[in-house]
Amino acid sequence: MTTEEISQKLKAQDEFFKSKQLDDLDFRIEKLKALKSEMKTQEKAIIEAIYKDFRKPEFEVLSNELFVIYKELNLFIRCLKSWQKPKSVSSAWLNFPSKDKIYRVAWGKVLVIAPWNYPFQLSITPLIGAIACGNTVVLKPSEYAPNTADILEKIIENVFDHKHALVCQGAVETSKNLLNQKWDYVFFTGSVPVGRIVSQAIAENMTPHTLELGGKNPCIVDETANLEVAAKRICWGKFLNAGQTCIAPDYLLIHSSLKTEFVKKLIDTLKTFYQSNFENNPDYAGIISQKHFDRLVEFLKNEKLIFGGESNAELLHISPTLVDAPDFDSKIMEEEIFGPILPIYTYENFEEMSEIIKRFDKPLSLYVFSTNKSNIEKVNHEFDFGGGVINDCIVHFVNDKLPFGGVGSSGLGNYHGKHSFETFTRQKSIVHRKNWLDIPVKYPPYNQVKLFKKFMNFFR
Ligand code: NAD
Repeated sequence: MTTEEISQKLKAQDEFFKSKQLDDLDFRIEKLKALKSEMKTQEKAIIEAIYKDFRKPEFEVLSNELFVIYKELNLFIRCLKSWQKPKSVSSAWLNFPSKDKIYRVAWGKVLVIAPWNYPFQLSITPLIGAIACGNTVVLKPSEYAPNTADILEKIIENVFDHKHALVCQGAVETSKNLLNQKWDYVFFTGSVPVGRIVSQAIAENMTPHTLELGGKNPCIVDETANLEVAAKRICWGKFLNAGQTCIAPDYLLIHSSLKTEFVKKLIDTLKTFYQSNFENNPDYAGIISQKHFDRLVEFLKNEKLIFGGESNAELLHISPTLVDAPDFDSKIMEEEIFGPILPIYTYENFEEMSEIIKRFDKPLSLYVFSTNKSNIEKVNHEFDFGGGVINDCIVHFVNDKLPFGGVGSSGLGNYHGKHSFETFTRQKSIVHRKNWLDIPVKYPPYNQVKLFKKFMNFFR
């Protein structure tokens, strides 16, 4: 879409928003229902599209793309009317008599920029929140998942008029053109460097925004962990989507006394999960593109491999790989791995483990496998991160009661469920004063200074 075309479409969205038609809650709920029904109709096409993009297994599409979206849609359809009700708060006695309320108001025109790794879910979930709250939306899906982008465009076209929501496909230039427009809210999911670019681009208009970014997520296995369960849960969380998950464990920290035993358990688990057939396994995703494949293969050069390391450039396949303690200044540790490679470090004590974690920016997630209450509390207290799980990984994502987002360089703001409602609306405070009493002290001429000073003594 050219800049001119984008401007035209946005003008139409602006007029539609200003027409106040979106204040009609029933209309918004009908649209959510229509989106749900269209998704049901297109389910097979969605599964096929994501498979074409990077061989994502059907079960993974059903469970972590479609299921979570249906859950989110159902929640908004069920709760929107009650969430939208103005909230009465007690009034300040200085304003007596009055009634005070907080209203939730849509921002207006929302831009959603999405990544490729959960290409459907990470596009539609923010769109649901934005639409439900009464905004208009332009969605820019990732150019790396073109088949998913096509089906997204088809679904949105079938449900919404362009003046309400539309998909704008394209790569970096399109994204930049979109960011040059004036938005009322921008919701970006992607990498830390691009998040920084987005923030700078919209700073000119002081546009409110959410940044859902990434980072290096530590996964700690302490000397009290249940190794059997930990091995399964870590292999699942790391190698789901072939490691291309923002909240996947990035590296493992294991108490030195358990390393040999635990590594054996990890390898056994991987062999069981994938029946020792990694390359042609329908339950194991591919890498999204040649560029991403080359980057990951480069990471493995000169590293000490414990397991895996096989790759096939034609298939864009990299097998689940365990790497022994890479140097902290090696390429693999310089950035978020975002692939099926798990570096393993050992530690002797809490201080040593803490020193490793604190080398990196605040992560999006942190995981600790432990059965010792004080160890768990110490970890939770010591480190700052977006969200975490004790004795599992990834699963905090599925509870829509928990706000999902990062901190520092791993993100700004959060969403999911009611938190999405809060993200895609702003609070508007209204004090409704009554006319039957009007104490004159505050009006000029100010001849009550002495009295006011006495009154202030209660606060000093
Ligand atoms: P990315 O930052 O490369 O791209 C994300 C989006 O930004 C795409 O739509 C892309 O077209 C656009 N974009 C790229 N360069 C741009 C530029 N210079 N200016 C404007 N727009 C630009 O990210 P990705 O590779 O698609 O996704 C992987 C990253 O996203 C990882 O870092 C991962 O941790 C993060 N991520 C975070 C979450 C989360 O919820 N916190 C979820 C998924 C992925």
